[in-house]
Amino acid sequence: MEDCKNLANCSFFKKYEQEEWLHDALKGYVNLYCKGKKQDHCIRKKVSKVLGGPEHVPVNMKPNGQPIIGTTDADWSDEVKKIIS
Ligand code: SF4
Repeated sequence: MEDCKNLANCSFFKKYEQEEWLHDALKGYVNLYCKGKKQDHCIRKKVSKVLGGPEHVPVNMKPNGQPIIGTTDADWSDEVKKIIS
């Protein structure tokens, strides 16, 4: 399977790639979603598609639709929450 075309610019990885303590988790998401069998099930991709672009996807949303550890979904729009519910 080809890598997700958003991988080089995915705001989620851009924001958290410098966090050393998250490296293993991020690597796991890349292997499972961005380069792997769950790529078509990425919730970030789904939200981007429905709302018309990656700029509408909360940065702290993991590919599985959950906020990354240490953050919450409190700032996510109702539209986003509806899509992922
Ligand atoms: S998190 Fe989702 S949208 Fe971002 S690069 Fe990975 S598969 Fe693509």
